[in-house]
Amino acid sequence: MKKNIVCKFGGSSVEDAVQIEKVRKIVDDSPSRKYIVVSAPGREKKYNIKITDHLFNIATSGKHLRTNRKKIGTKESKDAVLNKFKSLMKDLKIPDNGLLEDLNKDLQSDLTGEKKIAFLASRGEHYNAKLIAEYFNQKEMPTEALMPEEIGLNVCDNILSAKVDSSTKENLAKIKNKKKKIIIPGYYGMTSSGDVAVLSRGGSDLTGGELAASLDASVYENWTDTDGIYEADPRLIDEADVVPRLTYKEIRLLSAKGFNVFHFDAMMNCKKQGVPINIRNTNKSSAPGTLILSERVPEEDVVGIARLDNMAFIYLEKDMLGETVGFTKDLLTIFKKYEINTYHYPTDKDDISIIVNQDDIQGKINDLRSEIEDCIEPDHMEVRYNISILSPVGLGIKDNPMVLADAATVLCEKNINIEMLDQSPAQICFHIGVQQTHADSAYKALYERLILKQN
Ligand code: ASP
Repeated sequence: MKKNIVCKFGGSSVEDAVQIEKVRKIVDDSPSRKYIVVSAPGREKKYNIKITDHLFNIATSGKHLRTNRKKIGTKESKDAVLNKFKSLMKDLKIPDNGLLEDLNKDLQSDLTGEKKIAFLASRGEHYNAKLIAEYFNQKEMPTEALMPEEIGLNVCDNILSAKVDSSTKENLAKIKNKKKKIIIPGYYGMTSSGDVAVLSRGGSDLTGGELAASLDASVYENWTDTDGIYEADPRLIDEADVVPRLTYKEIRLLSAKGFNVFHFDAMMNCKKQGVPINIRNTNKSSAPGTLILSERVPEEDVVGIARLDNMAFIYLEKDMLGETVGFTKDLLTIFKKYEINTYHYPTDKDDISIIVNQDDIQGKINDLRSEIEDCIEPDHMEVRYNISILSPVGLGIKDNPMVLADAATVLCEKNINIEMLDQSPAQICFHIGVQQTHADSAYKALYERLILKQN
């Protein structure tokens, strides 16, 4: 039997009537696009703030946007949300069907505390799903909006950053084989006590991933406003192209190192179930985007180069350090105590460097240093700031030692010193530390030598 496609449309894809019409055309384009997950409308015009943030603001009596240094009160946020939905209804020519009245009622909810925050935060997705279903029906595309409370999209744990409950998979599988198109709001589910709980921010990706895995979809299309995953940061490298295919492992290495993609947990389900993910651009629907797969035969050695700026090395030297069993554990325990994430730690007989984000050690570095002095008693310790880490990633690196040689050669030709070199254990990525002042030219040189040259 033909498998269905699950499509998720993010906030910018559903933020106004023009975008929603693009979504309709995309869905209409393929009978397999049967299951659609939608975010809340993205930004509203007046304050250029996401609808979900306005909803958080209403629920927290203006605190949410005050902490972001914007002075937008509850009343302004309420108006922004209502006006957004009002103009969507008007522009999509949806007759008054009580949706605005229901939304207005929900915004006056007498819930309190976290239950109120979760409930209000979910309303953007809730009403957008209803509204878009209405629009599709009006355009003669038979559609049913199904709410998490109707289909058993159950969640557990923290009500403001909930996890999908294991019972959900079975429940979602039951909505297979529906005749109509199905629209489901992303980002929220129901707790066992019947309360609305929201997933973490950007959580519509998670709803889509959960649905795709439960229905064993042929593909999970994640529609957004970029063309896909880029080989390098396109703000820094003009020629950077979209990567057509890459594996979960490759994207993980690229994303963890500074590539902004979509919600990671969303991928795990799809990976387990073997559902490929296709990142597509709603504004350029003919472009194939990036396909994320479990496996691929590498046609190229390097698929992308990630870059992390503002990194620091904490360098320690001590005679016989490497002979002390458990010294790495003692050292890393100190970083754990200060809640500092460690990225790499190249080690040798008598020295070690711990690589961290320099923002993470701000205000903590003196205490951290003295605790390291007391515990490890190094002969020498220094902190080196303003380092960039450049990380070429690709399955083909493993079998081609020339990639590393080429990287070193091109940096040498540009007179750029390598401050740190660390190869990933899977050998499909390596990390080069350079002074941040040289990072732009190093990044460009690596891109040209490792990616452009191989095409
Ligand atoms: N609307 C929610 C947010 O802004 C969830 C989502 O868009 O995926 O985080």
